[in-house]
Amino acid sequence: MNNRLLTRGLLPAIGLLSTAFIYSATCVAAEKKEPWQLAEETEVWEPVPAIISVPASGIPSDAMQLFDGKNLNQWQGAEGGEAKWKVVDGALVVVPKTGDIKTKEAFCDVQLHVEWKTPTLITDENGKLLEGQGRNNSGVFLQERYEVQVLDSYNNKTYPNGQAGSIYKQSIPLVNASRAPGEWQTYDIIFTAPKFDAAQKLTSPGYVTVLHNGVLVQNHFEIQGATEWIGKPVYKAHGCAPIRLQDHGNAMNFRNIWVRKL
Ligand code: MG
Repeated sequence: MNNRLLTRGLLPAIGLLSTAFIYSATCVAAEKKEPWQLAEETEVWEPVPAIISVPASGIPSDAMQLFDGKNLNQWQGAEGGEAKWKVVDGALVVVPKTGDIKTKEAFCDVQLHVEWKTPTLITDENGKLLEGQGRNNSGVFLQERYEVQVLDSYNNKTYPNGQAGSIYKQSIPLVNASRAPGEWQTYDIIFTAPKFDAAQKLTSPGYVTVLHNGVLVQNHFEIQGATEWIGKPVYKAHGCAPIRLQDHGNAMNFRNIWVRKL
């Protein structure tokens, strides 16, 4: 290698490389962060959740009370007109054969709390044991169509996709968490309503999660369509709709019903 080549080509190249190396080493040093700085990078400070109060007894402050043990002001007959069920000792009691009742207000996505109690009488007027679907049946219909079954499923055999905690004829509950007749039971339901486009086509199915007496029985189940007694469920487009309670001919009791819009 002659001196000319060294001065014109190689030396400047070495110089450039050295500069680049020093520069990148300096950058790495500058970017090295303390653990707390790295931790801060994954902190999200907004939005701040709204503050609500949740009393030890009572309902969350952002919930809407649908039945407070006193009156049927929030309810009407499923076919319109007055709700004909009765308030007895703070409970909403089905008057058999007066028909289903539904909320006056329509709902979309909700968290719903319902308490219910099946009658202790499990025989008919002739003393015959009530069995299967005939033993104190009712139901909580989300958006008037999607039934979370209410039934005395304590020592009462029926088809499992029709027992308490089932999504009727669609999904068997994960366990049977039923209490005995005459004991209050709870449903905590998280419901995501199905969505339809302008052409009435389903764009997203409904989903439902159910806790029965605090125990998970339906885990984000994808609803197959409107509840049917006979045949397969099918979706038909609809908007927000009331919550409906079923009169199945039995004197079912409800209390402490509240809902949170999601
Ligand atoms: Mg039912």
